[in-house]
Amino acid sequence: MKLNVSSDGRQSLLKTMRDYTVAFNTCSDWGFNNHTVSKINCHNATYQNVRQSVPNLPSSLVQGARDVACESLKSVKCHFKPLRKEYSAMRYNQRVIRVCLGSKYATLSTSKGRIKVTFGIPEYYRQYLSWKIKSSNLSLRKNDDAFYLHCQLETDTPEVTTEQSVLGIDRGIINIAVCSDNTFFNSSAVKNTRAKYAYLRATLQSKGTRSAKRKLRKTSGRERRFVADQNHYISKQIVQLPYTVFALEDLTKIRVQKRRGSEFNRKLNNWSFYELERFIRYKAENLGKQVITVDARYTSQKCSACGHVYKGNRNGSQYLCRNCGFELHADLNASRNIAQDGISVLGRLPVNQPIVACL
Ligand SMILES: [Zn+2]
Repeated sequence: MKLNVSSDGRQSLLKTMRDYTVAFNTCSDWGFNNHTVSKINCHNATYQNVRQSVPNLPSSLVQGARDVACESLKSVKCHFKPLRKEYSAMRYNQRVIRVCLGSKYATLSTSKGRIKVTFGIPEYYRQYLSWKIKSSNLSLRKNDDAFYLHCQLETDTPEVTTEQSVLGIDRGIINIAVCSDNTFFNSSAVKNTRAKYAYLRATLQSKGTRSAKRKLRKTSGRERRFVADQNHYISKQIVQLPYTVFALEDLTKIRVQKRRGSEFNRKLNNWSFYELERFIRYKAENLGKQVITVDARYTSQKCSACGHVYKGNRNGSQYLCRNCGFELHADLNASRNIAQDGISVLGRLPVNQPIVACL
């Protein structure tokens, strides 16, 4: 949500972000040089230094910066040093922020004392007003130069998940996305455009001149934007469907269709699969909806009617079950399996597991 901040408040938040960055980078520096992600060791080694260089940064934020720095180092296994830019988004833990969703204001500790900000809440999110805040992130957006607060909310009483509320999504090359509710997102336009770019790229590469190289860079950027546009469009349509949970295959195990030029197709499409997933995730989260992944191993071989698993049941785009005679479009069959797997994944989650929405 966008924050209304006074000009004094703005200066306080900017100063806090700069101080937080100093604290973060000191910790990430130390952890990287000493090859450790231990928060305690990092604290003992850096706390005094950080306190001296940014004396006004609230100590909870010093600790927060240290925690985030250690976590980032851990996620890259200390292979390189994570550095924060001056005004990157920062985590505001519950000790330094108080958010009153009902009264639409928040108070934040900053390097220049505590400040109060107000915000509006879009109609859709009113249903979450009784939820608890789990974590908050403050960011400064470049395009409108305004501060945004991103809150994750949780509740102890999960909604009952019914079969109808889980949508299975099968991603593919011929069909970019096929949903278990029979929605198809076809890719013939994408394929043709990308084939055109691929041809252009091959021609330019064989030339190898400087101007050809320049043109090549331009072309690949254009192609990326084209696919990103498509993915934005498709993900937007999907998350607006009347479902609360979207199930996708675990991408690390996604199958690749065995067809002519599959090597080519795979290279071409892998990043766009990931991109589509990223878009669906953040668009769904923005609507307070959930995205889960399921094991991809048998989704294309299993019969969604009787559960029989047999490789030969699938023939190109047709699925025909040898066991029960069930016949369906192969991608649609896969997406229904994904939806069913999604329901059982949800069923395995502990009952009191909080469901998280993002504001
Ligand atoms: Zn069957």
